[in-house]
Amino acid sequence: MKTKIVILGAGESGVGSAILAQKKGYAVFVSDLGKIKEKYKNVLSQKKIDFEESRHSESKILEAETVVKSPGIPETAPLIQKLKSRQIPVISEIEFAGRFTNAKTICITGSNGKTTTTLLTYHILKNAGLNVGLAGNVGQSFAWQVAEKQHDIYVIELSSFQLDGMFDFRADVAVLLNITPDHLDRYGNSMQNYTDSKFRIIQNQRANDYFIFCADDEIIQKEIKKREIKPVAVPFGVSDPKSPGAGIANNKMIININQKQFSMSILDLSLQGKHNTYNSMAAGIASMVLEIRNDQLRESLSDFKGVEHRLEHFLKVHGIEFVNDSKATNVNSTWYALESIRQPIVWIAGGIDKGNDYSMLHALVKEKVKAIVCLGKDNSKLHAAFDGIAKNVVDAASMEEAVKAAYYLARNGDTVLLSPACASFDLFENYEDRGEQFKNEVRNL
Ligand code: ADP
Repeated sequence: MKTKIVILGAGESGVGSAILAQKKGYAVFVSDLGKIKEKYKNVLSQKKIDFEESRHSESKILEAETVVKSPGIPETAPLIQKLKSRQIPVISEIEFAGRFTNAKTICITGSNGKTTTTLLTYHILKNAGLNVGLAGNVGQSFAWQVAEKQHDIYVIELSSFQLDGMFDFRADVAVLLNITPDHLDRYGNSMQNYTDSKFRIIQNQRANDYFIFCADDEIIQKEIKKREIKPVAVPFGVSDPKSPGAGIANNKMIININQKQFSMSILDLSLQGKHNTYNSMAAGIASMVLEIRNDQLRESLSDFKGVEHRLEHFLKVHGIEFVNDSKATNVNSTWYALESIRQPIVWIAGGIDKGNDYSMLHALVKEKVKAIVCLGKDNSKLHAAFDGIAKNVVDAASMEEAVKAAYYLARNGDTVLLSPACASFDLFENYEDRGEQFKNEVRNL
């Protein structure tokens, strides 16, 4: 009898897991409560993998010996609770795929900056000629690549939801960028639960592995003091560089690791802004751990193109610069956007509020924002937070209205910044759709 594995959720990671499981000789069943995308359905059919959509057939699912769960399904879902009460292991795609590869892994987590840092690290390693794969929330799933490709190294973006389903997986290099409130609804509104989830990135690490973390992050600092850290701990921050570690001195980013030093002017980094300097330091350290040469690292840190929808300086219209930061779905990422962008700013904000506390933005808004355009179905919280703080706070019901209002309020030399601090699902399909609509409306001006 083949071991039975059930995959819950037939997206990129679920279908990748199904392919890998079939290849490794498991009996596979895929179940998705929603509609499965056509391209994934075709793959499952072609490979003769048993699947269902628009339902979960409980009796069949409960026969599983292991369940691979999509990160989108919360731990509190009744089916997951039932599986757990029966001691059926529920794991994530990364945990599952990790069992079938000996490749080195660089794993990157944090509340903000994961995708940027993951893509930057991948860019550096790829440019240096290494056989490296990109996985996690970006691109093709890890499981799919483990099934069909052979990479020596993977750079993996890990959300806390992925980490929650990881138990035996070990990261050779773990990167923790920051911890600020996000997704707390999935963590019983407990910051400690969310922090514990992020720290799963170092579970199972050994003395010769690396843990790269932001030393300027108070929550990370406090947590490290409470824990026994087994791997080599490598802090980065804006103060003087440690050894091992990275820091800033005389406007230079300096990295010390394994008896080597790297130094580069922060003005030459392609990613600008304080948050991006952190991301460059983290990616730089990880690359030096993999023995990338200084000249290769310098070149890649200076020619990286950036990532769409993240502080993307999109277009100038009549001297007004339009910046698309649609991916800013929480207050902290918007703080960094406002901090790093040239004033005066006309700020387009709003969407679905995830229990936001806007008070951390008050000082920056007072200093740099001349007008706010609220773009959401319900803008009451934004008004409560900023009426009287910004001179002008107006409402818009669509992206077209928002861009036109912002253009009307802005003058030559101003910046119009879309950095919503909120999720997008009230008016848009997702943050990409929101960013695309923004760019289209700007093009139409
Ligand atoms: P994630 O994958 O963690 O959501 P992204 O790289 O997609 O992160 O960036 C999300 C948002 O956070 C963008 O608005 C970006 O400008 C901002 N951001 C990027 N890096 C950082 C950082 N280190 N700290 C805070 N905000 C950041």
